Amino acid sequence: MRGSSERHNTEQVPNRSEDLDEPSTPLPDEIGDDSEVSVYTSSDDSEADRGRRRRKTTVTYRPTKQQSDIPYFESGMIFKSAKEFKNAVVDHSLKVHREVEFAKNDKTRVRAKCADASCKWLAYASRTKDMDQFELVTYKPDHTCYRKFTNSRANYKVIADYFIKTRRDSALSMKAKEIKLHAKQEMGIEITPTQSKNARSKIVKHFLGDYDSEFIRIWDFVKEVRVSNPGSTVVLDCPDNQFKRMYICYDAVKKGFIAGCRHTLGVDGCFLKGPFKQQLLSAVGRDGNDQMYPVAWAVVDVENHSNWLWFMDLVKKDLEIADDGAGWTLQSDQHPVSV
Ligand SMILES: [Zn+2]
Repeated sequence: MRGSSERHNTEQVPNRSEDLDEPSTPLPDEIGDDSEVSVYTSSDDSEADRGRRRRKTTVTYRPTKQQSDIPYFESGMIFKSAKEFKNAVVDHSLKVHREVEFAKNDKTRVRAKCADASCKWLAYASRTKDMDQFELVTYKPDHTCYRKFTNSRANYKVIADYFIKTRRDSALSMKAKEIKLHAKQEMGIEITPTQSKNARSKIVKHFLGDYDSEFIRIWDFVKEVRVSNPGSTVVLDCPDNQFKRMYICYDAVKKGFIAGCRHTLGVDGCFLKGPFKQQLLSAVGRDGNDQMYPVAWAVVDVENHSNWLWFMDLVKKDLEIADDGAGWTLQSDQHPVSV
């Protein structure tokens, strides 16, 4: 019993090499359970026994967070899945400006190599037996090839993901030409006009979803506001099922304004970002501490006289402002215009 325990604990990890990749050689997941962290706690072992033992630790891959970070790989590294491994390889490929090919790519093995036949860079990973993860079995880290300025891995999805990650909301306002230009400047790769247009569509969809399905849900939103905030004013105007304007003044905000704010209102309009070019109208008060107090707002198809009249009429009713506006100050663009 002791002998068998000792033999197990001091056993060397099987020599994993690229030849595991050959069909005649057992796969790493067939070799044994050597990807787990093992801790030996037997109290009657000698110091010598303990000295011979080694604690095997696994290194788990961490996706890069910054665009400037190049993925770190080492032999024995664990990936959650083949997909994570392949994404990491593509990330590496783009950031080091080298083209990488997947010479083997199935459910149990993924072998990535540099597209330059003379280059030795290689990453081979296979599925672990019991954890359903992927382990980087062989890694040759050095590219002996030259930097490239085109990369077939830089498809429109990768481009879109890059700008979503680095620019967040402001990616939504990028035009296709800007995407093409910045892909070259920041990622060092040339993309076609079609790729940049497709990347833009993906960015828009990422932030705004599918317009038709989102639009249908606007009625649910109005219903939910009325149910969960009774007393609120929600007006949705959609003639011929086409969005024209929507006004919102929450009951609690309305009551707070009437109870504690000065009889001063600032009104302003601004463009909303996105492909639909709607505009936001807002009425903002001042509380007792002279802080801004947004009280009502509307999204309208266009900022014009008619929509402003509609908006101000609803604001007057909600805030109980008399028709003549006596005692109120209205500011537009931060300039007092009437008393
Ligand atoms: Zn290379």
